[in-house]
Amino acid sequence: MEGQRMDFMSLYRDCRLCPRECGTDRTCDGRNGRGGFCNETSRLKVSYVGPHFGEEPPITGTRGSGTVFFSGCSLRCSFCQNHQISHAGFGDFVEPADLLQRVELMIRDDRVHNVNLVTPDHFFPHAFTLIASLRRNGCSLPSVFNISGYQALEMLKLAEPYADIYLPDFKYADGTLAARFSRCKDYPDVALRAISEMIRQKGFLDSFEKDAPLAAKGVLVRHLVLPGHVENSLNALTTLFLEFGPLLPVSLMSQYTPVLPHQEESMNRRLSAKEFQAVSDHAADLGLERLFVQFPEENAQGAKPPFLPDFRLDKPFSTPAGQD
Ligand code: SF4
Repeated sequence: MEGQRMDFMSLYRDCRLCPRECGTDRTCDGRNGRGGFCNETSRLKVSYVGPHFGEEPPITGTRGSGTVFFSGCSLRCSFCQNHQISHAGFGDFVEPADLLQRVELMIRDDRVHNVNLVTPDHFFPHAFTLIASLRRNGCSLPSVFNISGYQALEMLKLAEPYADIYLPDFKYADGTLAARFSRCKDYPDVALRAISEMIRQKGFLDSFEKDAPLAAKGVLVRHLVLPGHVENSLNALTTLFLEFGPLLPVSLMSQYTPVLPHQEESMNRRLSAKEFQAVSDHAADLGLERLFVQFPEENAQGAKPPFLPDFRLDKPFSTPAGQD
């Protein structure tokens, strides 16, 4: 395993962990080291470890999903809801052994249902070794790879033994929009290829099958509907349906909240119920059968949506009633 670990760490040299393929040497001796587009070196940096109740029901369960939020991001969308960690680099450097200990404490004390790695792709070498160490120490919880959809195929092949569940986004069907908001015109093609590979590895999320109320394996695709961009959402759903058929599990999310001033006027407001309804109706018209939908009315209470994080706090997510 040690030899394998060393091989993984060498991926930080001439970094091609994501489709940006920066070719940057991210390795460092603890002081130096250069970040690529993701702004992170090979020094592991994490902004939050703890239970989270904002995932879909078969992932959250009753005791929460055991999240590890990695700092930095390979996509850095201009509207990112987690901009504090993706753009501003919030988080603390942590030794891999200390992270392992924190995750094991979370599993023991909070009895979370899974280990959920949020945006791990630019830290895949550490993510793989974390999961390998957990398993070696007896952890049998499913591992969730919670990713942007903008993934390199070669890296997904390396991830296969370590991932049980993939939660990829499919953000854009429109390359022009992807270029404008995330600086990756090739997002639609890259993400479709990546999602195909994830499905080849794990199949569709298994929680829809009888006697499997909580997810243990498979792929669930997420799509965040953006205000003023209903057309992109309609095309994204049509594309997913044509590629993967009516049984693909899809989660339609409405919680977009403007967190930074945006250059596009529509992105400076919340999503309207009418916009979300149009997208939800389209999913039903297409015949997508395995849908999670989060209507805006359900999360529009109060000044701050319940799952909009503030990573300056010890507990970045407000806790839903009854889940203290
Ligand atoms: S992980 Fe970071 S440095 Fe590596 S290719 Fe992607 S953006 Fe570039």
